[in-house]
Amino acid sequence: MNFGVMTAAYIGASALFIMALGGLSHQESARRGNIYGILGMGLAMAVTIIGAVTDNYSLLLLGLVPGGVIGYILAKRVEMTSMPELVAILHSLVGLAAVFVGFANALGHGVYESVVAQRIHDVETSLGIFIGAVTFTGSLVAYLKLSGKVSGNPLQLPGRHLINLAIVLVSLYLIVEFAAVGASEGMFYLTIITVLALLFGAHLVVAIGGADMPVVVSMLNSYSGWAAAAMGFMLGNDLLIVVGALVGSSGAILSYIMCRAMNRKFLNVILGGIGTKKKSAPKAGAVAEVQGEIVEVQSEEAAHMLESAKEVMIIPGYGMAVAQAQHTVFEITKKLREKGVNVRFGIHPVAGRMPGHMNVLLAEAKVPYDIVYEMDEINDDFPKIDVSVVIGANDIVNPAANEVEDSPIAGMPVLEPWKGKHTIVLKRGMSRGYAGVENPLFFKDNTRMLFGDAKQTVDALLKHLAA
Ligand code: NDP
Repeated sequence: MNFGVMTAAYIGASALFIMALGGLSHQESARRGNIYGILGMGLAMAVTIIGAVTDNYSLLLLGLVPGGVIGYILAKRVEMTSMPELVAILHSLVGLAAVFVGFANALGHGVYESVVAQRIHDVETSLGIFIGAVTFTGSLVAYLKLSGKVSGNPLQLPGRHLINLAIVLVSLYLIVEFAAVGASEGMFYLTIITVLALLFGAHLVVAIGGADMPVVVSMLNSYSGWAAAAMGFMLGNDLLIVVGALVGSSGAILSYIMCRAMNRKFLNVILGGIGTKKKSAPKAGAVAEVQGEIVEVQSEEAAHMLESAKEVMIIPGYGMAVAQAQHTVFEITKKLREKGVNVRFGIHPVAGRMPGHMNVLLAEAKVPYDIVYEMDEINDDFPKIDVSVVIGANDIVNPAANEVEDSPIAGMPVLEPWKGKHTIVLKRGMSRGYAGVENPLFFKDNTRMLFGDAKQTVDALLKHLAA
């Protein structure tokens, strides 16, 4: 294929990827963004297959067809609540691909214009293999933890930070040595670098508690982007460099946003479970502060409170996802709107188990975007709200984040329904949320607890509203 045509197609694909990321930043444009992404990837693959890869199409199809079929089946089957583990296992494949490309590249070492060019290329190769191998085992461990195949507890070896530091320093030394002797004589160094990086990736992630795993997945997403960018340098493929950099930087930004929304420090998360102890054993103060009584409500009375209200705010959380209650929640919304009640949704940035989790569920249930608000847009409106309905949410509406100084979630920004007139909380019992802390909201005078599985409870509410 003509070099100019290929370059133009690569620029077109890069533009489509950038437009995809832009589209994905808003619910209204997310579908369009997704389509741009698919078009960009289709164009990139078509041009690469026709113009750049190989004449050996049968070998190519041998990888392409089963890979495509497996990916399609996995994406079709996966539950929204299992998405983080699917993402983790897919990242591990990007890391593995970077390792293979790196070795293939080193074994097929070419002729270079100068010694400097050769050394730069060898540094790219060894760094790419290092990042790829860390991504591979790190993502694999994250997948095993998220899917419950191994314990989510952090495994923290004594002196683990020193072990990590030693691995990084030795690997850097070996990368320099590899570049000095060149690929033809340096395969031994490359093998040791790979083994060290594989151990490093696994060691880094086993030390992190299951609670922080979604942030780790997002961080590994970023690593997989840098691994792809490194492959781009190895293969001299500009598109791979651009796409890798896009994935790398957007993954890093997402990790930062998640840490900020959970009030965690990024370094604390990746250096292995600092704060995890606090989560599993909350300080006494966090619990002792809770005063008041639990007041139960039945679905009939709750339905009456809702239809008598002018302003209703629905706050969905992880429990709504587990119960798959979103469709009935939208039916309730329609019923209340028919009765002249202004219903809005307040979404916390880390409600559920991944960023955007609630937005996806609400979009799936066809809730109109213009009644779905982000926390920052809506938090000041609570004093005007007659009834807030908290559906399977806990930490994201926990006033302890503002009120209890030594709470494990102190400082985490939360939605503030207790500032409204009434709050109805739908959950099965008095279990704590993800962070493992007591929630004083449930004991407030203006809170009513509607116990039961969220799906059954919203079904009952709908029945009463329709009656
Ligand atoms: P939480 O996990 O804090 O609470 C969920 C609540 O839902 C539980 O208290 C549980 O109580 C209830 N529940 C579970 N199943 C059902 C059901 N079938 N029906 C009714 N209720 C149910 O969820 P939140 O959404 O409030 O908070 C998210 C948490 O996840 C935060 O701590 C956040 O930091 C963390 N997190 C989020 C990430 C993200 O990207 N979104 C990433 C990493 C962590 P009960 O058992 O009594 O019913």
